[in-house]
Amino acid sequence: MSGNDIVSVEDYEKIVGYETVERVLNKAEPLRDLHVTHINSTYYGGGVAEVLSSFVLMMNSVGIKTGWRVLQGSPDYFGITKKIHNALQGSDINLSDRKKKIYEDTILENAIRNHLDHDIVIIHDPQPLPMINHYRKRGPWIWRCHIDLTNPNRELWNYLTRFIEKYDAVILSLEEYKRELETPQRFFPPAINPFSIKNKELSEHEIKERLEHYNIPTDLPLVVQISRFDKWKDPEGVIEAFNIIRKEVDCTLVLLGNVATDDPEGEKVYKSLLDKRDERLIILSRQDTALVNALQRKAAVVIQKSKREGFGLTVTEAMWKGSPVVGGNVGGIKYQIKDGENGFLVNSVEETAERVVQLLKDKQLCRNIGENAKETVKQKFLLIHLLERYLEMIGSFESSFSLKN
Ligand code: UDP
Repeated sequence: MSGNDIVSVEDYEKIVGYETVERVLNKAEPLRDLHVTHINSTYYGGGVAEVLSSFVLMMNSVGIKTGWRVLQGSPDYFGITKKIHNALQGSDINLSDRKKKIYEDTILENAIRNHLDHDIVIIHDPQPLPMINHYRKRGPWIWRCHIDLTNPNRELWNYLTRFIEKYDAVILSLEEYKRELETPQRFFPPAINPFSIKNKELSEHEIKERLEHYNIPTDLPLVVQISRFDKWKDPEGVIEAFNIIRKEVDCTLVLLGNVATDDPEGEKVYKSLLDKRDERLIILSRQDTALVNALQRKAAVVIQKSKREGFGLTVTEAMWKGSPVVGGNVGGIKYQIKDGENGFLVNSVEETAERVVQLLKDKQLCRNIGENAKETVKQKFLLIHLLERYLEMIGSFESSFSLKN
């Protein structure tokens, strides 16, 4: 399988129309030649890397010289940053001096290795957050947090605030994540690349080939959840729901997950599920982008039963493919799904099972929901929409910072 084709803004014309493309190009024009960098903590696995891998190329395609740097850290460091991630989503954390030291020292080392004299620096999520302590700014620094901030651990939030408030702007995915901060906050969701290997059209033959490669049977309807193996994605709850569903309708469950390099808990969660496998309950840990695409297309129903979800690109991806999604009624999922219109929102294992059974028994309902889902993504959650929001934001800095020297 070859890599993704390089996509330009003009390629979106056939999806969003000439006017949108022109509008975006006009917003980009005055910002040409700005030098921008994005920094995050993993090159693949998880939504942030997914967005950056396409979005950075897209920013270059409109003339903004945009780079992407991935910070380096030891397993100790990623163990701590995963705890920080969990605590931002509401878990407890023992925020010891030892943990803070490893966190801050790793960032100091990264700051020494990286020479950031860009017009704009965009830092993603908490892992590289303290980078800002080590530079003299030449232009705005933006902290883009992708996490569900409904109920962050207070002690941790207070600790992180001392870094966050040094930034010139914070971007959160949803308005409901707004925090009390001196830094201005903006709200916009991430987006998907409809042309990538993960999201492009696939022929029946290509879908069949991918599924056969992993011995995934297609004789019965497929119910799938595709997610990092992470407790917040509630894979156990999906299995419980499936055990109710299968009593009513014969079907196959596929749980596909990958493990991101900045998520040390993934393997443990994956292994804890393996005992539950059977002929019709398939659990796979693989990094195979085309398989994600094939499963999201072939699925009769896609589940995303998260308990916390910053946004949930897996939901967007499935919706774009016209597949009906049953999603946890949390964070970014409830922002994307209007219950009963373009998907279903659920609050429990039982409700999940009920909605999946309803969909499995009603093909017309699946088609209606799937069509509405695709339209939602087309209107709001494609990379060109995200680019427009970033361009507006960068443009708005021009008055307060002299971006072009
Ligand atoms: N993903 C993948 N393979 C997998 C599981 C997930 O490529 O086995 C991708 C998925 O398609 C999506 C991203 O990882 O693009 C997950 O993003 P999301 O926002 O749903 O959740 P996150 O992992 O960032 O919490």
